[in-house]
Amino acid sequence: MSALVHPASARPPLIGLLGGTFDPVHFGHLRLGEEMREALGLDELRLLPAAQPPHRPPPVADARTRLQLLQLAVDGVPGFCVDARELQRPGPSYTVDSLRQLRADYPAASLVWILGADAFNGFTRWHDWPGILEHAHLAVASRPGSRIEGEAARLLAERGVAADALRERRAGGIVPVEITALDISATRLRALIARGASTRFLLPEAVREQIHQQGLYPRAAPTDGAPRQP
Ligand code: ATP
Repeated sequence: MSALVHPASARPPLIGLLGGTFDPVHFGHLRLGEEMREALGLDELRLLPAAQPPHRPPPVADARTRLQLLQLAVDGVPGFCVDARELQRPGPSYTVDSLRQLRADYPAASLVWILGADAFNGFTRWHDWPGILEHAHLAVASRPGSRIEGEAARLLAERGVAADALRERRAGGIVPVEITALDISATRLRALIARGASTRFLLPEAVREQIHQQGLYPRAAPTDGAPRQP
């Protein structure tokens, strides 16, 4: 985990936070992080693997393995780092708990929690979502044509800000960012690996090699809806 050090005279940092299961990490995640880094002018992009994601079935690979794959993925990537704090807490990995810790670590920073438009549509069902907005801004990644609806659309109308306003306050704004998403998912990768198909050019080579060496994802994951193989 890298620590952003900034002298008192420097402007406070703008830190992007990308949470996920990363089961395994792939170029869809990394490209999302890179486009957000560029669009928002982030000083740092932190990837936070969830130990126990609260709103979905348990991941296939254990948390230490997913962390190790993430570390291989960001090794040498400028501006990217891995933040393992959710592995150090017992129980469900609530975003608001991570943000409270990050706020204590970086009192002056503007924090930006990055999430997809689909996830944002369910944001008002997240554990203590108002607490999340007390500690961080949100950056909502939308593909051209994707829609923000219902409660989420109302929240965006109330809290929407432009990217260049994120440094003016430490938290509480919501900025939509159009990204050119890559059609890659961890679910699909696990299914490809399980049937011995090629995953080349979908994830970093170092991650691919490690998955192969450790024999990870040997069977179709029960969460992907595919019939179990004998
Ligand atoms: P799974 O298929 O197991 O559900 P996933 O590939 O969607 O996994 P997650 O770890 O759940 O990956 O995703 C973490 C974050 O990355 C989420 O905010 C998700 O919306 C985003 N994300 C995942 N894949 C892509 C992609 N191809 N393009 C843009 N964003 C992505």
